[in-house]
Amino acid sequence: MSHIAIYPGSFDPITLGHLDIIQRSLELVDELIIAVGVNPSKTSFFSIDERTEMVRESVAALPSDKREAVRVEAFDGLLVHFAQQKKAQTIIRGLRAVSDFEYEFQMAAMNRKLHASLETLFLMASDHTQFIASRYVKEIARMQGDVSQFVTPAVQARIQGKLQEESVA
Ligand code: ADP
Repeated sequence: MSHIAIYPGSFDPITLGHLDIIQRSLELVDELIIAVGVNPSKTSFFSIDERTEMVRESVAALPSDKREAVRVEAFDGLLVHFAQQKKAQTIIRGLRAVSDFEYEFQMAAMNRKLHASLETLFLMASDHTQFIASRYVKEIARMQGDVSQFVTPAVQARIQGKLQEESVA
């Protein structure tokens, strides 16, 4: 049976931290579905379509053997339902410093209550990307800071475009 995992997130926007988790997950599973979702407790900067497109573009830059194992889908609704629909056995999440733990622990426990056989697999953030957060990337870019160490050049260009759109609106 092939091992299907879902990596859900807001990806607002996708960062090099997310990409690190994606690449490392691909060493562990046969198929990875990146589920770009709506987090009700966050207001998003990019639309769901923009966020999904940026994830697709980033995945397209992976080596072809890796790329073939990845699907990118937008989703809303309950993650456990989406996982059931996709016949996924595992949820992948990334863990940065202590601050992620409480939220991630609670979510994994609740998901397990809702769907007992669905495991959440946590990958510890890598040293070189563990300080990267979409939220700070947006804040830095908004204040004209350089975000090139945190996101791909394509994502950086999208952020600039979005900020320009905002400033003329
Ligand atoms: P959500 O709104 O669901 O938390 P995010 O896009 O913020 O979505 O994060 C998706 C997942 O990726 C979360 O598990 C988060 O902890 C993880 N993540 C985000 N940034 C990093 C990073 N720099 N290194 C490792 N994991 C990360």
